[in-house]
Amino acid sequence: MLIDYHLHNHFSPDSNEDTRKIVQQAIQMGMDEICVTNHVELHDQWTSKSVFDFKEAIERFKKIKAELDLVQAEFPQLPIKFGAELEYIPQHMAGLAEFVAQTPFDFILGSVHIVNDVIIASHRFADGLYAKVDEKTAYEAYFKNLEKMVDWGHFDAVAHFDINKKSGHRFYGPFQPERYKDQILIILQKMKEKRMGIELNTKCIKDNCQEIFPHPTILKWALEVGIEHFTFSSDAHVAKNVSTHIQEARKVALEAEIQGVSTYVQREPTVHRL
Ligand SMILES: [Zn+2]
Ligand SMILES: [Zn+2]
Repeated sequence: MLIDYHLHNHFSPDSNEDTRKIVQQAIQMGMDEICVTNHVELHDQWTSKSVFDFKEAIERFKKIKAELDLVQAEFPQLPIKFGAELEYIPQHMAGLAEFVAQTPFDFILGSVHIVNDVIIASHRFADGLYAKVDEKTAYEAYFKNLEKMVDWGHFDAVAHFDINKKSGHRFYGPFQPERYKDQILIILQKMKEKRMGIELNTKCIKDNCQEIFPHPTILKWALEVGIEHFTFSSDAHVAKNVSTHIQEARKVALEAEIQGVSTYVQREPTVHRL
């Protein structure tokens, strides 16, 4: 089964893409199901500050749901799920928990994009951290935030588990998860206890760090601690990138001996054969 469970459309602050174009591309790429996961927070792209406006988010996601229902009726051959990508910003988490409770999502991703007030998910800003501190300091701070995000817990799967390597590899070389094994195992164990999943995200497979998120070693540890749910995703913000390299993600999953891929309805997972 092929799915793309991390997609952004024109309702995300960082995308202008038309929903129908995304759906057409996903069908062309052979997907069996997709989930649209727009950012809830708005980013001030110049100051790198994250903005969360509860009322704005409630209203915007009502519009997203209405549009997805409309597009679903036009493309009955491809199930389209209603999702979101939340990010870890300590002062927003109480409001985000309330937002999640009030919105009928199928699936929610939890992401860390910001470490020490720097958007490490974007090359434009990441240098602001990586040029100043050593690898251990930067990566430990990233995983500390990821652990806090998992402790918060109002989501279904961790997005781009080791996104620290996206820009980090340019400063520190290839990411070696063994160096952070203790921290990563604690996070994976907490995820298992909360029945959280993990996505195999292909966004940087052909550029940046040339790897899937997460590193195959982290997938191996995830299986060892007993994580049960895995999704595939392109994290596309434009139609031409939709579902790219999902076949390669499936191959990585098979090599890691992952047994199944999960889809979600109203935040309840179902495991399908790969
Ligand atoms: Zn993200
Ligand atoms: Zn994303």
